[in-house]
Amino acid sequence: MRPKLVVGNWKMNGSRANNATLLAGIVEGLGNGKANAAVCVPAPYLQQCADVLAGTTLAWGAQDVSLHASGAYTGDVAASMLVDFACRYVIVGHSERRAYHGETDHMVAQKALAALDAGLTPIVCVGETLAEREAEQTNVVVGKQLSAVLELLDGDAVERIVVAYEPVWAIGTGKTATPAMAQEVHAQLRSRLRERSGLAAEKVAILYGGSMKPDNAVELMQQADIDGGLIGGAALKAADFLAIINAA
Ligand code: PEP
Repeated sequence: MRPKLVVGNWKMNGSRANNATLLAGIVEGLGNGKANAAVCVPAPYLQQCADVLAGTTLAWGAQDVSLHASGAYTGDVAASMLVDFACRYVIVGHSERRAYHGETDHMVAQKALAALDAGLTPIVCVGETLAEREAEQTNVVVGKQLSAVLELLDGDAVERIVVAYEPVWAIGTGKTATPAMAQEVHAQLRSRLRERSGLAAEKVAILYGGSMKPDNAVELMQQADIDGGLIGGAALKAADFLAIINAA
């Protein structure tokens, strides 16, 4: 059985003072348990995570990475730099980056590759807009987004990614896919992984993201192909984030 994984996406939220309180609350709540959990924070706060979280069970990571290794790319952050801050994870292809920064499926795939090459675990986000769902294009859209990544990765690298299914219409809106709706897409994503590699299909965690909260987390994570959550708003409150981790 795949272990459940819960990852908080802080987006562009936080301050040194607020982060200190939030991280301390999460760490205290986790105690000595064996939670499989992480927070993905704005890049300037990675050192704070490294200072506070080293030696705890909470891992940390970033929300984006450059597809380039180094050089004249003002404002970008290279995967090797994230490794310098002891990141384990990096989110790639979040719908906000696809929508506001023009990231294409191919760019997202290149970012996943850059992350893997540096030894990071990319959390590859896929998801359809409301218009795409209403046009019954969900499986086509998410299938294409995942395939772009699978095409670029060699051999067993596919086994080292995490996938997050995040319907765009459910992110930050309070609307959640029903467990059955989410499960259907997760199963579809897993069969696409299986076409590429049976082992990858067994190993790769597919997280659900989109208004996951303490009161819907259990039912979502009970679905056969939902291996955890990528949590936005609810990751900014220690009690809510801990309740979701406990649900896992
Ligand atoms: C996200 O942005 O990855 C997300 C899932 O946000 P929320 O939980 O707030 O919908």
